[in-house]
Amino acid sequence: MKLSELTLDREGLAAAIACEDAAFEAALREEAYRVKVDTIGPEVYLRGLIEISNICVKNCLYCGIRRDIRSQRYELSEEEVLATARIATRRRFGSVVIQGGERTDAAFVRKITRLLKEIKAIDTGDAPSLGVTLSLGEQSREVYEEWFDAGAHRYLLRIESSNPDLYHKIHPNDSLHAYDRRVRALYDLKEIGYQAGTGAMIGMPFQTPEDLADDLLFYKKFDAPMVGMGPYNPHPETPLTLTGTPYPSAERRFALGLKMIALLRLLMPDINIAAATALEVLDPRGREKGLLSGANVIMPNITPEEQMVKYNLYDRKTLNASDVQDLVDRGIVIGYGRWGDSKHFQKK
Ligand code: SF4
Repeated sequence: MKLSELTLDREGLAAAIACEDAAFEAALREEAYRVKVDTIGPEVYLRGLIEISNICVKNCLYCGIRRDIRSQRYELSEEEVLATARIATRRRFGSVVIQGGERTDAAFVRKITRLLKEIKAIDTGDAPSLGVTLSLGEQSREVYEEWFDAGAHRYLLRIESSNPDLYHKIHPNDSLHAYDRRVRALYDLKEIGYQAGTGAMIGMPFQTPEDLADDLLFYKKFDAPMVGMGPYNPHPETPLTLTGTPYPSAERRFALGLKMIALLRLLMPDINIAAATALEVLDPRGREKGLLSGANVIMPNITPEEQMVKYNLYDRKTLNASDVQDLVDRGIVIGYGRWGDSKHFQKK
């Protein structure tokens, strides 16, 4: 396949995803990088990632912190979260992401509300207050509103697969894991006023090139201002891995991860696209390659190290803030101290 033959409809996207020609893939990544720089500039925005807790009420079949997995659970105290947010301020990250397993109990909800208010009150000198993205799963519309009013302005809720059949293959079949409920939550977030981001796993068992093409078209239809998607990285103790269902090699999943970023950049030129840490698991320079394929956001992990290792979503390396300096040393331009909202959202 040649780049000049690429079309951005379902058929064209699926053909591009299925094509394993290295020259085509390299040309596609180069074109996506060019489109990124021409549309939104070369800057990369930082989100300091705070993994607040690995306690989760859900049981997704691919997840290393699912409810039924034996693992040492933790929850950061409010003071620990605030101390970490202050580190993000000192390092001029501009924004933090508070991510954790899904919990809907009142104590947790109120804790997040208090934290949001306290984080927004951190003295940042001349810079704007820290931007806050939440990634805390499905909540009621009232809770989303409460957190929005307390200062969160972005929310990441990955759809994981836009194909309802595939979604049900990778989740337990119960009301807690219903596809429609997740889609409803995404629209709630958008209607409330969040920059509502989503994303999916790439290269998982049962997934076809058409599924991946549909994921891209789902982001477009939802008009997502930001997307965080990454390669599937199997966790050895999860039901999805233990079924033995085949999935692409690590090399192919990495190539697919970069290709999805590149295709999405062509499809939605002015949105924010994260170079997910899942890329770095498969290639030591994965995030940098993601940025050179059209991504413009990275999320250095600033969770206290003792807890970071327990947030064991999949077999991953712990990535930390010093990686940012490596990227700077390799010529990546960092948008220090900026919220880095997507141009797509700003235009609205
Ligand atoms: S993917 Fe998210 S919601 Fe599902 S089990 Fe893991 S942490 Fe919980």
